[in-house]
Amino acid sequence: MSKVRTRFAPSPTGRMHVGNLRTALYAYLITRHAGGDFILRIEDTDQKREMEGAVDIINRTLELTGLDYDEGPGKEKDCGPYVQSDRVKNGLYMEYAKKLVEKGEAYYCFCDEERLNSLKKTIKSEDGTEKEISVYDKHCLSLSKEEVEANLKAGKSFVIRQNNPSEGTTTFHDDIYGDISVNNEELDDMILIKSDGYPTYNFANVVDDHLMGITHVVRGNEYLSSSPKYNRLYEAFGWEIPEYIHCPLITDENHKKLSKRSGHSSFEDLLEQGFVAEAVVNFVALLGWSPEDNQEIMDLGELIKKFDYHHINKSPAVFDYGKLKWMNGEYIKKMPFDDFYKMAEPYIKEVIKKPLDLKKIAGLVQSRIEIFPDIAGHIDFFEALPDYDIAMYRHKKMKTDEDTSLTVLKEVLPVLKEHDDYSNDALYERLKAFIEEKGYKNGYVLWPLRTAVSGKEMTPGGATEIMEILGKEESIRRIEDGIRRLETK
Ligand code: GLU
Repeated sequence: MSKVRTRFAPSPTGRMHVGNLRTALYAYLITRHAGGDFILRIEDTDQKREMEGAVDIINRTLELTGLDYDEGPGKEKDCGPYVQSDRVKNGLYMEYAKKLVEKGEAYYCFCDEERLNSLKKTIKSEDGTEKEISVYDKHCLSLSKEEVEANLKAGKSFVIRQNNPSEGTTTFHDDIYGDISVNNEELDDMILIKSDGYPTYNFANVVDDHLMGITHVVRGNEYLSSSPKYNRLYEAFGWEIPEYIHCPLITDENHKKLSKRSGHSSFEDLLEQGFVAEAVVNFVALLGWSPEDNQEIMDLGELIKKFDYHHINKSPAVFDYGKLKWMNGEYIKKMPFDDFYKMAEPYIKEVIKKPLDLKKIAGLVQSRIEIFPDIAGHIDFFEALPDYDIAMYRHKKMKTDEDTSLTVLKEVLPVLKEHDDYSNDALYERLKAFIEEKGYKNGYVLWPLRTAVSGKEMTPGGATEIMEILGKEESIRRIEDGIRRLETK
């Protein structure tokens, strides 16, 4: 069996849609699982759709997600160049289109726009909507060799079309969707070479997949319906047909196709929203596939080991944003602290302007957030004590209320004023001694204390951890503030 070779073949038209990232990932996992090669090919033959900076987005995405390629732009090997516009310059696609013309599998077409427009007709789709289609009527197929040559000589504008049969059926096999047959009369004679001399996506894609030795073609299911035409091209050339692996549709939670409107349809959207690349990769892998043991948290190494494309699902995959957030939280928890801090620092600095120990603050929130923007809501009280309701001092289990809290805070205030070492451990020891001396329960003291220094019901870390960060002066000020609030209730 030949070595497995897969490719990611993006068109540089904009942001990296989650569906494209999944295609890249599945292609990568298939080949890494089998010890094969992963190729990056830039499909930039549709110059109208191209967007500046899109190639940078592709490179950055592959780098951040760890999907390293063996061959591609900047990693030239035998099958290069790996950018289709460079291959156009070499005359490669024209050469292959001419081979098909010679075989009678393609033909020159000189029809002008007016004639092509007259072939357009409106049909009703299965969902009831109307759409305009144009099926070419093979008019130019009947031109003699001489007529074609005369037209070319005269400099007439032309395209080259695939010559598909109008009778019979074409069947192809997809590893996910099974055998699919179409009536040949539905196969339009699609354009292979456009009037500007550029190949169409469809043609360049097939030629390159063959020349680059691609064994498994992974792509979104929007290409499923074109696959018979691709198959016919392989057959016309006498080339081996690769395995087709079409991935299921990705929908939002309302079962509508995941689109820009959802606000999280691209990899960049997700990074901007505070997701980490590893979590996104893990999540995207599960959009349409799961391992037999149903394990959910898997890093790239584990995915490579477990990935089996035969288990990709046909049915649409729902993008569950809540699940992605949960997964991201799991990845954040596992991050080495220094890496976490690097990412968390800007979010912390957005909230904390006072000279506090930002690393300590980061240490308190690492295990408590799902995405980085969650940080603000956990730490805002460090910057300024919120105006809080004294009902917060009431806690059934701790047996505290406003009165007990007032008493305790008044008792503990002089102890804390006298104490100078505000490190967490030393503070905790001092408070424990106070609690024992008084015969109180821990929560009876620590609950009101934490409430006074934070003004919040939920905080990352306990009273002493918070006081360590606030420092002595600010902690005392907040406890005095609490006493005042409780006295004037
Ligand atoms: N250039 C195509 C795209 O970006 C690639 C499709 C394929 O993988 O065959 O959608």
